[in-house]
Amino acid sequence: MPKHTIWILGDQLIFPHPALTWAEERGAPVRVVMVESRRRRRAMPYHRRRLVLLLSAMRHYAQELREKGYDVDYVHADSFEDGLRRHCAEHKPERLVTMAASHYNGRQFQRHRLPDLLGVPVEVVDNSQFLVESFNPYPDPQPGKRYVMENFYRAMRRHFDVLMHGDDPAGGQWNFDKENRKPLPKDAQPPKAPTFAVDHITQQVIDEIAAETDAAYVGSLDNFDLAVTRQQAASALGNFIAHRLADFGPYEDAMSRNEETLWHSVLSPYLNLGLLEPMQLIEAAERAYYEGSAPIQSVEGFIRQILGWREFMYWQYWRQMPGFKQKNAWGHHNPVPDFFWTGETEMNCLRQVIQRAIRRGYVHHIERLMVLSNFAMLAQLDPAQVNDWFMAFFIDAYDWVMPPNVIGMGLNADGGLTATKPYIASANYIDKMSDYCGSCVFNKKARTGEDACPFNFLYWHFLLQHEDKLRADPRLGRNVLGLRYLDDDEREAVKAQATDFLR
Ligand code: FAD
Ligand code: SF4
Repeated sequence: MPKHTIWILGDQLIFPHPALTWAEERGAPVRVVMVESRRRRRAMPYHRRRLVLLLSAMRHYAQELREKGYDVDYVHADSFEDGLRRHCAEHKPERLVTMAASHYNGRQFQRHRLPDLLGVPVEVVDNSQFLVESFNPYPDPQPGKRYVMENFYRAMRRHFDVLMHGDDPAGGQWNFDKENRKPLPKDAQPPKAPTFAVDHITQQVIDEIAAETDAAYVGSLDNFDLAVTRQQAASALGNFIAHRLADFGPYEDAMSRNEETLWHSVLSPYLNLGLLEPMQLIEAAERAYYEGSAPIQSVEGFIRQILGWREFMYWQYWRQMPGFKQKNAWGHHNPVPDFFWTGETEMNCLRQVIQRAIRRGYVHHIERLMVLSNFAMLAQLDPAQVNDWFMAFFIDAYDWVMPPNVIGMGLNADGGLTATKPYIASANYIDKMSDYCGSCVFNKKARTGEDACPFNFLYWHFLLQHEDKLRADPRLGRNVLGLRYLDDDEREAVKAQATDFLR
């Protein structure tokens, strides 16, 4: 009897998988196909660590399915098209069932090209990896209208009944952000995130990626220690809840020269692959609050990241695609500088953060936002190029997550649809929240002059360039108030130094 083929994509490693469930509920015999596409892997200069994580997790998932009794056809092919065609020619399925991709082009391909390409009926079931797919607070957004994350998040909290006491938020407040902006104490000793040993499947992938010397991949393969199975990812979640959740909130925005992860969860790589699911994280954090092992400001702060920011970003992606990646509201066209690829710069914060990205493929949110994209915004880098740079360097990078975070939030290039104001800051902020400035050759206090921190003159230059626009906007006006203290000579000096630096 012909079987239904269930095509499971590499970032959909959930179980039970909705496409499998769809076919099984109809009593159809099933065979799973997974495709490793060489062309897809080489579509960008991806981080080697990210490729090992993805391919090893896929192969472990195939093994998990086989252990559960599924027939899995694991295909190595030049492209998805080739792999699926080969599978269909060999197995002649009655139907192909797949879960909607999280990325725009993938979903277009599934819905509009696959049936003709394969010559079999195709069923695309709903994506279950994002909660907003099952409840959308704004199903028909008005063009150009700004929807604020806070309102979206509250609607999600109410709908999914998360941290709610009846109609009221647990702890009496929706938002504990004000209590969550502490710099790192000097004697802080954050617990380390867990590490996982390399097994033979992962080693095989490491060897394969290392052997692809003609590929333009970036980053180091040394000390690979990420979770690659559902069990390991669950253990990483358990470790976070037990050891880091309680202090997650207060030090969420802190940055450190020596500590890579602080109290952050480092769960995005697993969540984005499907090894973990959003409600699993939310319920684990909520349980910790009700059991008294973590305070409300940390639990709410963490749940806000998942149920609020992550879901809101995914919603923004679908709202603004296609065309999101081409947005450039501030008209910035400078190329990404070479040192973004090497970390070779005297600016200590950027050097440390970029070198960490090269080593680990991970830096935490505030380093991404207030060091990397703050610099990219102030240095007027081209948003599409910055988007591609982030795509290359991060182990948790996926098509859906990048434009809202980079083009929307980081660079404010979507006209403020994602974030109501640009996240820009001078050295003052970086110094307050980190220990980078103490050992930097630049002077964090100087606005201009030979040793002035580039964040300073670039920041004031940005405000000067856009003074009228910023002043007119109530959300941005506060940024320009400081310009009152700059006389004409200082304004000229800022402009001259910034122009010279950018050139
Ligand atoms: P935690 O600080 O522990 O937060 C918990 C979880 O919340 C994360 O695991 C993540 O799943 C979710 N989350 C929080 N904020 C966001 C957000 N803005 N968008 C999506 N999920 C969020 N996230 C990615 O998953 N992949 C990326 O490639 C990525 N690139 C980014 C680039 C820029 C310029 C910025 C500003 C943010 C980016 N983010 C990205 C969002 C966020 O920085 C990361 O999700 C987070 O740093 C992952 O580390 P963590 O798991 O330790 O997060
Ligand atoms: Fe970064 Fe400027 Fe501080 Fe140096 S002085 S670490 S460049 S913010």
